Amino acid sequence: MTIFSKIIKGEIPSHKIYEDDKVFAFLDIGPLSKGHTLVIPKEAVATLDQLSDDSAAAIGRVLPRLCRAVMKATGAKDFNILQNNGAAAHQVVMHVHFHIIPKFNDTGLGIDWDPQQFDHTAGAQLAKQIVASLEG
Ligand code: 5GP
Repeated sequence: MTIFSKIIKGEIPSHKIYEDDKVFAFLDIGPLSKGHTLVIPKEAVATLDQLSDDSAAAIGRVLPRLCRAVMKATGAKDFNILQNNGAAAHQVVMHVHFHIIPKFNDTGLGIDWDPQQFDHTAGAQLAKQIVASLEG
């Protein structure tokens, strides 16, 4: 069991922002900026690809509303949604979570974005492989 399951159960305190039967949201204890919020499914799976359609839909339904509330309360006009999957992708807590990170001039998420050359021949082949890999 991860620390987030304990937070959902109330065994570890948190600054709760939202709760319904499938979703829980609370302030991040190590904020990158004022209002940094975590939105998590109650379903305890590690990464997004493992999440059920029901939990995914429940998060999708409430995420924009939570973003609006965080922006309104903090006065931020811009924000990032960050969702890490796996240790190499900077995931530390192995329970699916979406970060809402308000972006101010001096605080928020910094991104090291290093685009590579796109090969259209390889891209066409890869797109076909991904389409074929989609589950029904
Ligand atoms: P990750 O790197 O896994 O995407 O992010 C995990 C996040 O969980 C971090 O931003 C970290 O500050 C936050 N976090 C870890 N433990 C706790 C905790 O006990 N309470 C709260 N509120 N946030 C936590």
